[in-house]
Amino acid sequence: MRVSRLMLVTLRDDPAEAEIVSHKLLLRAGYTRRISSGIYAYLPLLWRVLQKISQIVREEMNATGALEVLLPQLQPADLWERSGRWAGYTAGEGIMFHLTDRQGREQGLGPTHEEVITALAADLIRSYRQLPVNLYQIQTKFRDEIRPRFGLMRGREFIMKDAYSFHADEASLRQTYAEMDGAYRRIFARCGLRTVAVEADSGAIGGSASQEFMVTAEAGEDLVLASADARYAANQERAVSLASEAVPLGPDPCQQLATPGQTSIEALAAAHGFDPSQIVKVLLLAARFADGTVQPVLVSLRGDQQLNEVKLANAITAVLADHGGLLEVAPLDGALVQSWKLGVSLDAIPFGYLGPNLDDATLKIATLTNVQVGISGAPSPKPEVTPRLKRQFLRLADPTALELQRFVCGANKKDSHRVGASWADLGPLPQTVDLRAAQPGDRCLHDPSQQLEATRGIEVGHIFQLGRKYSQALEATFTNEAGQEEALWMGCYGIGVSRLAQAAVEQNHDANGICWPLAIAPFAVIVVIASLNEPLQVELAERLYGELQAAGVEVLLDDRDERAGVKFKDADLIGIPFRVVVGRGAASGQIELVSRLGGERQDLAADDLLPHLMQRIAAESPVTTPAHP
Ligand code: ATP
Ligand code: MG
Repeated sequence: MRVSRLMLVTLRDDPAEAEIVSHKLLLRAGYTRRISSGIYAYLPLLWRVLQKISQIVREEMNATGALEVLLPQLQPADLWERSGRWAGYTAGEGIMFHLTDRQGREQGLGPTHEEVITALAADLIRSYRQLPVNLYQIQTKFRDEIRPRFGLMRGREFIMKDAYSFHADEASLRQTYAEMDGAYRRIFARCGLRTVAVEADSGAIGGSASQEFMVTAEAGEDLVLASADARYAANQERAVSLASEAVPLGPDPCQQLATPGQTSIEALAAAHGFDPSQIVKVLLLAARFADGTVQPVLVSLRGDQQLNEVKLANAITAVLADHGGLLEVAPLDGALVQSWKLGVSLDAIPFGYLGPNLDDATLKIATLTNVQVGISGAPSPKPEVTPRLKRQFLRLADPTALELQRFVCGANKKDSHRVGASWADLGPLPQTVDLRAAQPGDRCLHDPSQQLEATRGIEVGHIFQLGRKYSQALEATFTNEAGQEEALWMGCYGIGVSRLAQAAVEQNHDANGICWPLAIAPFAVIVVIASLNEPLQVELAERLYGELQAAGVEVLLDDRDERAGVKFKDADLIGIPFRVVVGRGAASGQIELVSRLGGERQDLAADDLLPHLMQRIAAESPVTTPAHP
């Protein structure tokens, strides 16, 4: 390919729309342009990168025996209603783009494909003899992300590889899951990425075991907590650890303490010399469900610990499995009462002084609010659901709070706390559930001498054992060896192909631009003609370009009528691994070879270039996995 024909437009300055280096570089080097929020064009150079990544993914998936398919992006609402996900994915903060077609039927643009594939499995899989089977596709996904950002990292339209496996039993699912783990490690290594595999939250997709693959990079949106001995690594959303020991409270009998204005743990601890670990803090929140139910929630945590919101959402979902799915959890305060139109008065709630035994009767029905009005939020074609606030708190407590023998907590009365309280004094015990956020520096469960350390990561892949959630909902069954009908076991496995391309830039760049790993570089070599006014240079460059092409090397020829310095800068910026400069030495058949990574320069006889490059390229290409027998 000739650079003069490539429609290449490079930018000298950082575009204002980009915050992180990989996004800046992809824009500056002419790989992509923003069309609208979270929507990007993949220009010719980027499309080559994406195809290379896709090909590596394809080879490794095929090597495990997985079958490639292409499923519809337009998906009927009724499939999602059967799985119970339509409301959650389309209402409020739901991420599914959806529309009503001319027949008046609701459709969604696929953010993921569990429903479609499970419906197909229900149709096509009859017998255990057809199992296991693993189907994958590489396709554009649509997600109306709340905060699209960082270019291809979090787009509203992006390329994903998604695979779904079906099994007769859990052991077979575990085996395929392990094979996918191996395939993913090979894929990322072949793409030249440094990744870590971490325990992950299973989120809205549901299911049990799941693991994410993180490209380690400062710009990553995820926080990974890992032990130095490399035996434990988890996304902070999911991480567990040992809390520090609480400082015991003295033996004095339980009494009330005047604490005017001391509404925070810090203020309370400072005023009376308490250690935060001696205090139980109580948070008041509300959970909103797709069927309109709003559940007030009281969470008790040890004062020195932080709430993990993902764990809380999972706990609420587990306790209240009905109600059409959890939409949102937020602190219950005046602003929330207004925006959710809850028709409740919080006047009787002594904020800042809450104890775990706050009386249900403190949730008073307001007289003035019109409870008929629906929940505000994104416009929905359906009539809005009227919120129904439950009048009993769901009471949850983290084990570190429940383990305290005696503690300080709010007295449920303004300006007053209890000192020396015990759970026995406070009525029925809340439900125990792990709700605390593990923090860097915490001791590890597997070995208390190890500490959790934090790194940032970009999630490029995620593998799940889904179990039978979708197959049961969509009645995807098979006949087992004993002749009985059973629901299929399922796994699902995603890779963010377009995110991966940008993550590769985040990990592989320098002050001058991108340094693509050879395996996913758009071209392996760029031949630069230093001066178009020198016929000898043009002639030699054209010859080398032809030879390299004939030998199957992916090569660019920079034949633009630009100053040599401009062309060198652009070659560095777009990040082609090998640069061949045809300059003054052309007269004596000499060229210069420059490595993008490291910048080593080497003078070579033009005739030696091809064998030399072939050898370098072969040495840098990892061994590929043989095809599935
Ligand atoms: P995240 O937590 O980053 O929102 P997710 O957990 O919702 O991602 P999955 O449903 O597991 O994502 O999707 C599989 C893969 O698709 C992810 O591992 C990620 O690499 C990629 N991906 C997800 N959302 C986006 C997006 N908005 N833009 C680009 N890639 C994405
Ligand atoms: Mg994920």
